[in-house]
Amino acid sequence: MQQVAEDAPARVLIVAGSDSSGGAGIQADIKTVTMLGGYAMTAVTAITAQNTVEVAEVEALEGWLIERQIEVTLSDIGADVVKTGLLPTRAAVKAVCKALGGARLPIVVDPVLVATTGGRLADGQVARALVEDLIPRAALVTPNMPEAAALTGIHVETVDDFGKVADVLLAFGAAAVLVKGGHLESERVQDLLRTADGEEYWFESERIETRSTHGTGCTLASAIACGIGEGLTLRHAVARAREYVLEALRRAPGFGQGRGPLGHTHPLSALRERAER
Ligand code: PLP
Repeated sequence: MQQVAEDAPARVLIVAGSDSSGGAGIQADIKTVTMLGGYAMTAVTAITAQNTVEVAEVEALEGWLIERQIEVTLSDIGADVVKTGLLPTRAAVKAVCKALGGARLPIVVDPVLVATTGGRLADGQVARALVEDLIPRAALVTPNMPEAAALTGIHVETVDDFGKVADVLLAFGAAAVLVKGGHLESERVQDLLRTADGEEYWFESERIETRSTHGTGCTLASAIACGIGEGLTLRHAVARAREYVLEALRRAPGFGQGRGPLGHTHPLSALRERAER
């Protein structure tokens, strides 16, 4: 029997790929969850050799191994929330769905297809597999604009198109969608959160001028998942996660010659908030 402390951290199971440069993928996820006071567990789906300039190699792990990492971890420690990032093949998507089986865990799906540096990470069948198998069980899907286009066929040109994207993903069965506007060429960044229950919130923030944006999607989704695991409302989890990413962008160390990593290790408004609750 487990003897779990009363103030034990939220257990976040991250299902994602390794980024050797440490900026995105599992490395970004673990840093984020840890800095937000959560407990990070991982099921690795792929190993990439990459840096801030290019994705040099992607080696997908076999479905059975992804499945076993999830099963074995859940059967002992359990989880409060699952976050998926890169699922490189259809088999990986299937493995995740199978391993999560009847577990009634909230799943945050970051539909990663392409790296910030432009390199393809997932094969051509993944978008469809996500739509058919994983998005219908998602508590939240967090597409950026290229991902929204790949999943829904809608090419977003302005924020007026965000609602259409959200509605298509909700129709696929997601419980909520966060459409991210970071790729629009606008002075301020707007994201739309829409839920199947009919709730809608717009989030808006300054745009931070930096080329260090590698891992922003992973970081945001992991931060949201951590909040959900703690029991925050979806709206509050998204608001806190955006705040965490903004500060990490401001504190980017400037490493690498291309799209550099964020500064994940910043002191936490989030922890402060948690202590106040
Ligand atoms: N997952 C892995 C393993 C990656 O290497 C990357 C990007 O390089 C991503 C996810 C997505 O990164 P981002 O958060 O920048 O969209």
